Parts: sequence; structure tokens; C-alpha cells
Amino acid sequence: MDQKQYDYAIIGAGAAGLQLILKMIHDTFFNEKSILILDKDEKNTNDRTWCFWEREETKWDDLAKHTWPYGKFINDNEVIDFDLSPYRYKMVRSADFYRYAKSEITGTSTIEWVKDEVINIENNQIQGSNNPYSATHIFDSRIPQAFHDRQGNYHTLIQHFKGWFIKTKEPIFDRNTFTMMDYRLKWKDSTSFTYVLPISETEALVEFTLFNDQLLMTEEYDEYLRQYIYKYLDIDSYEVTEVEQGLIPMSDYPFQKHHSRYVSKIGTAGGWVRPSSGYSFKNADRYSSMMIENIKAGKRPEKGIATSRFRMYDSIFLNVLSSRNDLGEEIFTRLYTKPDIQSVFRFLDEESNFFEDIKVMFSLNKPQFWRAFFGTFFK
Ligand SMILES: Cc1cc2nc3c(=O)[nH]c(=O)nc-3n(C[C@H](O)[C@H](O)[C@H](O)COP(=O)(O)OP(=O)(O)OC[C@H]3O[C@@H](n4cnc5c(N)ncnc54)[C@H](O)[C@@H]3O)c2cc1C
Repeated sequence: MDQKQYDYAIIGAGAAGLQLILKMIHDTFFNEKSILILDKDEKNTNDRTWCFWEREETKWDDLAKHTWPYGKFINDNEVIDFDLSPYRYKMVRSADFYRYAKSEITGTSTIEWVKDEVINIENNQIQGSNNPYSATHIFDSRIPQAFHDRQGNYHTLIQHFKGWFIKTKEPIFDRNTFTMMDYRLKWKDSTSFTYVLPISETEALVEFTLFNDQLLMTEEYDEYLRQYIYKYLDIDSYEVTEVEQGLIPMSDYPFQKHHSRYVSKIGTAGGWVRPSSGYSFKNADRYSSMMIENIKAGKRPEKGIATSRFRMYDSIFLNVLSSRNDLGEEIFTRLYTKPDIQSVFRFLDEESNFFEDIKVMFSLNKPQFWRAFFGTFFK
């Protein structure tokens, strides 16, 4: 039997692959294109929860489990409240997103979703563990082995965390205010904090998070969660209804070197995670729109993506936190409190101009930071 040739193949039905396919479905340019989407998993469980900020109401509001107009940042000395306006912080559960994307795909006749594990890609030929496939262009969200092998001279931290969705009997939480970072409980002298996302007066996701290079045993995260809930949330009776655990690479590794003639890397594998924060869901929205415009203009799909000056700032950030992980609390306190939160969101969204960047960078006024800054600029 002849092997079917697709116009596009997307490997990975995750945040990036599905946001890209949704953009294709909603653009008439792709109406007649045959598209294959390959994933090794069914994508029908809630394997993660995505949070991000947005200025306006968007399509994500229909899917969002909860949104917050206010946030706070806590350390030993102070509680800093922020009114996020005009932004809102939003939470989308991955199971809802997968369900929505699948329902949109089902309504098309040109997209095929196949469950298969990709073993290798050679030019435009994809070797799956069940079948071979061929496509004119491939969008690949597999993280390159070279990154895992830590080849090359670059800075990498791991954002690793465990979270419990908890339910209390009594109303305890303020459903309008989430805690971005609470540094009162730390693992040794590391950049570690707790993140609290209340979804009702009796329910919240509480997540103990570290930005360093040392994963913990799963019971250690549990112990920190128990302590935080008891000591800082003042809750002694609750039920754990769901658990979330994961890790996100925060790295200045040059993911772009893995694009090739027939393959554009996307998602984490394409460098879509903002290295200084670990956020990438919104980048996937923005970058997949850029890819669509590039394709329509006959350019390389990844042109101009994840290569801006912001990557240099992030590299400075990683450089400092890799060598002085104990400075995280102070750096993030300054970042989230010295400029206004709206400027920080604009900076993390890569929307700020050079003068606004300088304002954010000046707020992190630490000698280690300036050494890394000048070292990067004048090397
Ligand atoms: C638990 C967790 C929580 C997170 N929370 C946030 C958040 O709040 N906000 C935020 O902005 N970011 C968050 N992130 C970071 C980032 O947004 C996510 O990791 C995001 O899902 C990355 O998108 P992706 O498409 O690159 O990868 P994924 O969503 O992981 O998708 C990759 C897909 O590729 C498939 N795949 C991999 N290898 C193969 C293969 N060989 N063959 C076939 N299929 C394959 C996988 O099955 C998977 O479906 C979080 C990450 C994790 C792990």
C-alpha cells in the first residue's frame, strides 16, 4: 500500500501542538491541507494545570477553571498585594483543553489524529513505532536528546514542584486572590517557595516549587506541603482531591539549532518556555500565531520565534541563579515588587520596550546581577 503523504505533521498533541493545530483549523489557508497529528498518549487525563495572565477576555475564558483579579507575594518581612488590573491571572486545566481541541479536530475532514510513538525523523520521513509517515513539513515537540545529555556550555535550572488540590470543610480561601510566591518556607538555601491558587472558598491548589538543579524525593515535597498548609494556611483538616507533579526546564540552551529543512521544533523543544519564569502556555498561543503568518508568507515557520533580546536577559537571570541559588528570594521579591506588576507582565510577555526592560533590570539591583549583565553584553 502506498504511504500517505501529508502536507503537515505535528508530533505531540500537547500545549504547543494543539495550539498550532487550532490556529490552522481557524485559518482558511489550511482548509485544503492534509494534517497528521501524532502523539504516543491518548491525551484524556488532567496531566497539568496551566496558569497565565491576560489583559483582555479571550477564548481561554470559556475554558478557564478560575480567574483572579488580585495576587500577593509573601516573604518573611512583608506581604505585598497587587491589583492585576487590567490583567487577570487565569487557570486552564489541561483535560478541558485537550477535550476542546479534540472536539474542534473532530469537526474537520483533513486532520488525522494517530496514536503512535515517534522513534526517529530522517528528512521528511517519520518513523513511528507502529508505522512510517511522510509530510512536507514537520512540527516536532520532542525535546532533543542533546539537551537531556547537557551537551554544551549553557545554564539550566529545573523548575520542579508538587501540588495538592485540597478541599476544606470550612470556608478559608479568598477566591479573588492567588499567591504568586510565598518564600516563608524554603528548602535549604535554595530558590523555593509555595504557590497558592484558590478556586473557591474551600478549594485551592497548593504547590511547593523549587528553581534549582536538585530534584527531591516525592515524600519531601509532601512534607513541605503538609508543613505549609498547617503552619501558614492554618488548616489542620482537609482532603487532598488531586495531585500535580512536574518539572519544567528553565534553560538558555539553543533549542533553535535543532530546526532543520523539514522540521521546525515547537513548544518546550523549540525554546518556547520563558527561561526566567517557566511559563510557556501563552507563548504557545503567540508563537503558533507567528508560525501561521510565517507559513502563509512563504517564510520558515520558526522565523523570529524565541530569539529576541529577552533570551539574553533570561540567560543573565539563569547565570545568577545557577551560581547563587540562595539569591532567588531577593531577586524575585525585587522583580515582583519594585516595578509595578503590570510592567513585569509586559516584560515576561516580551512586549516591553528597551527602556522598560532597563527599568525591570535596574529593579534587580544586585552586584552579581550586574556582573552577569556586563559579562553577557561585553563578552
Ligand atoms: C505539571 C506542569 C505544570 C505546568 N504549568 C504551567 C503553567 O501554569 N503555566 C505555563 O505557562 N506553563 C506551565 N508549564 C510549562 C509548559 O506550559 C508545559 O510543559 C507545556 O505543556 C509545554 O508544551 P509542549 O507542547 O512543549 O509539551 P507537552 O504539553 O508536554 O506536549 C508534548 C507532547 O508530545 C508527546 N510526545 C513526546 N514524545 C513523543 C514521541 N516520541 N512520539 C509521540 N508523541 C510524543 C507527549 O505525549 C505530549 O503529549 C507546566 C508544565 C508542567 C509539566
